[in-house]
Amino acid sequence: MPSPLVFRCDRCGAFNRLSLLVPGRAPICGKCKADLDVSGHPAALTAESFDATTSGSPVPVLVDFWAGWCGPCRAMAPAYEELGRTHAGQLLVAKLDVDAAPEIASRFRIQGIPTVLLFRGGREVDRAVGARSLPELERFIRAATLVI
Ligand SMILES: [Zn+2]
Repeated sequence: MPSPLVFRCDRCGAFNRLSLLVPGRAPICGKCKADLDVSGHPAALTAESFDATTSGSPVPVLVDFWAGWCGPCRAMAPAYEELGRTHAGQLLVAKLDVDAAPEIASRFRIQGIPTVLLFRGGREVDRAVGARSLPELERFIRAATLVI
């Protein structure tokens, strides 16, 4: 049996475990009944949802600390999006706008952006500073999950 895929509801933040996806039929959130986004598109976190998401997720959470004015962040966005799609349900790929949540950025001592942090069980496992290509992001995740 493959382990169930986990998807976070964009509306209420609940984590939904799905054992199989039916093509053409959108699954709904077990808690609030909203349509679940199962595409793996990076979840936009806020200061309010950050802790609940990184601590409550049954799967590792990757957070890109970014800002709209940051060129390297925008350059990395397509690779980051692709990473989310590739690992949809197995790794929660998320983003946090540091301008909207400066207190979170300062708590994690973010010195420059983009910086990606990998969380498991609410704890930071590893981080990578600077824009990364898709293969580099994949290597980072593999290396970090091996040491967990
Ligand atoms: Zn929901």
